[in-house]
Amino acid sequence: LNIAVVRERASGERRVALVPETARKFMALGAAIRMEQSAGSESHFLDSDYPEVQAVPGIAEAYGGADLVLRVTPPSAEEIAAMPEGSTLIGLLKPFEDPARLAALNARRITAFALELLPRISRAQSMDALSSQASCAGYQCGLIAAARCTKFFPMLTTAAGTIRPARVLVIGAGVAGLQAIATCKRLGAMVEAYDVRAAAKEQIESLGAKFVDTGVSADGAGGYARELSAEEKARQAERLAKAVAQADVVITTAAIPGKKAPVIVTTDMIKGMKYGAVIVDMAAESGGNCALTQPGEHVVANDVNIHGPLNLASRMPTHASELYAKNLYNFLSPWIKEGRLAFDWEDEVVAGTLLCRDGKTTHNGVRQAMG
Ligand code: NAD
Repeated sequence: LNIAVVRERASGERRVALVPETARKFMALGAAIRMEQSAGSESHFLDSDYPEVQAVPGIAEAYGGADLVLRVTPPSAEEIAAMPEGSTLIGLLKPFEDPARLAALNARRITAFALELLPRISRAQSMDALSSQASCAGYQCGLIAAARCTKFFPMLTTAAGTIRPARVLVIGAGVAGLQAIATCKRLGAMVEAYDVRAAAKEQIESLGAKFVDTGVSADGAGGYARELSAEEKARQAERLAKAVAQADVVITTAAIPGKKAPVIVTTDMIKGMKYGAVIVDMAAESGGNCALTQPGEHVVANDVNIHGPLNLASRMPTHASELYAKNLYNFLSPWIKEGRLAFDWEDEVVAGTLLCRDGKTTHNGVRQAMG
């Protein structure tokens, strides 16, 4: 089995799909690995940290003769053209974004697995790259908020007097939101949080945060949230406005799979916020939970600082890559037999994650969405 890894070329991307530990494990299963020189250096993994991996100068040398290509982000058209026909590709491939990319993969009969499609069942938790990267992102949101806030997060008793802790509101308590809550709690802030899923209340409270009850509950399919009706949105906004107005920091992480992020913090709510308050909008990448978010920018409105950071996991590439690479290994290793890939195409996790194979888009949801 020839595995290939190249340097990620997406703007701002610092992660790598293979770390020294997973390289050793793949080789123990009989794989040979070629990796573009310095592919791990942005994550602080040097070529010398992969002593048995063959370092090669570029994409053509890495991909030539490859059976399996490991990636973090989707490959460009040039990279797809360099992959051997019929080879296997795995990564966070943004399956709903680019029909031309899907067509190019099918034209080369690439077997592609998009980790965004991984079924979120117990057995697949160790392979869940969305969760591992969301944990990094949520942690980063907490740190950005603390760094931008003009107040201490913890309560402080000093000779000059007592400082009250900052008030943080987290909206959306999935994997990222819960990590943001935990991070802000560790820093000593007073944290409130809200999510539309009923199960979130207990998870928020187990982290020592207070649940904000808006009376709106919207559990959807597969443990995800569903989109709210106009009436539910209005009720949610009315109740949330008070919590937003009292907060020094609002962190938003609300998402609905395959849809634009819901706008939850409205322009009117921002007008009601404290001067100098901070919003960190983790949903910036998919449109933003705050009406005034500009993806990748810091904007100031009504003296409220609104941050829309992108690719948050890439801000901590060493651990983000380590977790991601382990997710890849956990997905692939059961199917490496006698040094070859041998997938069971009926397996729920394999079938659910498969995007395309033999020149066809196999995933129903993607096929329907892409027409
Ligand atoms: P996500 O990134 O899709 O969404 C983030 C959060 O936003 C979710 O908690 C969602 O309920 C919330 N949200 C959506 N609309 C909202 C609104 N209008 N107002 C407030 N909040 C809103 O979610 P995720 O972090 O990927 O996780 C979603 C679910 O999947 C959770 O129940 C999680 O526990 C579950 N999960 C299961 C597994 C597994 O079993 N393998 C792994 C990861 C996550």
